[in-house]
Amino acid sequence: MNFLLNLFKKTTNYLEESYQNNDSFSPRLSIPLNIHPYAIKYRGKILTRNELEISNRQLDFLIRENYVRRLPSITKEGKTIKCMRCENINITFFAEIDCKKCLSKHLYCRVCIEMNRILACESLYYWHDQSIEFKHLKKSNYWQGKLTKNQEYGANQSINALENKTDLLIWAVTGSGKTELVFPVITEALKKGMRICIASPRTDVVKEFRLRIDSVFKKTSIAALYSGSDELQNNAQIIVTTNHQLLRFKRTFDLLIIDEVDAYPYASDSRLKEITKRSRKIQGTTIYLTATPNQALKIIPTVFIPKRYHGQPLIIPQIKYSYFLKKQLSEQKLPSDFINILKKREKPKRQLLIFVPTVQLSKDLKEEIINLLMEFKLINKKEEVATVHAADDNRNEKVIAFREHKLYCLITTTILERGVTFPSVDVIVVQADNEIFNSAALVQISGRAGRSPNDPKGDVYFMVNNNTRAIKECLKDIKHMNKLAKELIL
Ligand SMILES: [Zn+2]
Ligand SMILES: [Zn+2]
Repeated sequence: MNFLLNLFKKTTNYLEESYQNNDSFSPRLSIPLNIHPYAIKYRGKILTRNELEISNRQLDFLIRENYVRRLPSITKEGKTIKCMRCENINITFFAEIDCKKCLSKHLYCRVCIEMNRILACESLYYWHDQSIEFKHLKKSNYWQGKLTKNQEYGANQSINALENKTDLLIWAVTGSGKTELVFPVITEALKKGMRICIASPRTDVVKEFRLRIDSVFKKTSIAALYSGSDELQNNAQIIVTTNHQLLRFKRTFDLLIIDEVDAYPYASDSRLKEITKRSRKIQGTTIYLTATPNQALKIIPTVFIPKRYHGQPLIIPQIKYSYFLKKQLSEQKLPSDFINILKKREKPKRQLLIFVPTVQLSKDLKEEIINLLMEFKLINKKEEVATVHAADDNRNEKVIAFREHKLYCLITTTILERGVTFPSVDVIVVQADNEIFNSAALVQISGRAGRSPNDPKGDVYFMVNNNTRAIKECLKDIKHMNKLAKELIL
């Protein structure tokens, strides 16, 4: 570590003076017209020299006139080395490399290397001037639907939070329609010419959110940012993004909505939390959305939405104990309980969503599941069953095929635990006592059933060797929410 610190000192000494002088320029009175296109393209962004498409002469002018601030890419405070782009402070994620320009060795950050490597001798450029305002949109919301009383209550609380520049947690059960619930607060923010970010740890959720937002805020500039998106350069008024992509933003959003705030990897990654927090203006509002908040989130002022959109209660999972479950699964067999479930289902027409703890198990069980479904005449051909997991290239296609009823049964890892809605499914979790299924995951998985007003019921089964704390907590949570929903006057 000392070696890295010394290396840092050697490479950055000569830069320090120029950074320190940055704040001494007085702000200009108005923005020259020829700067406008750049200001719109780059405001609120932190970029490398290569990402700024302007000449050296222009850049010098912008820095001198205090539109753009030059920042070191890596800083050191005490013994802490920090990447100014991605907020990484874990020293094991810094490495060194020869610099051809300086003919010496430099540090670089390995965490954000996929966004182009940036060496300690290179600068970052932060377009901090945001004096060109977004339009104040009197009419922006083209949604035709109507909020339930519960949603309306959550929506009003969100608008209060926006007005008071405070934060809010919306604890809304699965299937309560939390996406629609934020339309009014976005509308209100657009009226004030504010800038809005909707962030989620999961690309699937970002894509889904983008579609919804597009259809409602038709005339507003919107960009979706995720790895592989062709809009990564787009600096729109509404940004829908994975938390990862926020490393190019700083202090620019007035309203930050974080969806699935308890999902992997955001929930356990302090660096992702840091860049997400950094993207919002110091005076602003953050709204956290989730069905399963962790303890840390519960200290934020909270609005409960315990009732589902259609008013019916959440489905309570049925636990099926099977002493030989583990052993049978290792022989690629399913216990008799699985067969009993197939026999006794109330509505065999409902599709089957089967969760398993590992990719391997999904493959091991596929054949056996096909045979059983054939035997019970639930499918005609084996192509009606598919497996899906995170690294599956055809993941999207399979989810669409399931939604379009081309598949009867989808065997999945936790990848489909949240962010997807199928109207009428029964859910079976094989080995729900596996440690991969924490209580939040089990609540989310159970929440896949009974989402449609046309079929608000559905069965959820947990197949286990043993009971676990996660299962107990999941059952307690679901029952508690159903009780709250019943007591609710709204
Ligand atoms: Zn970094
Ligand atoms: Zn260098």
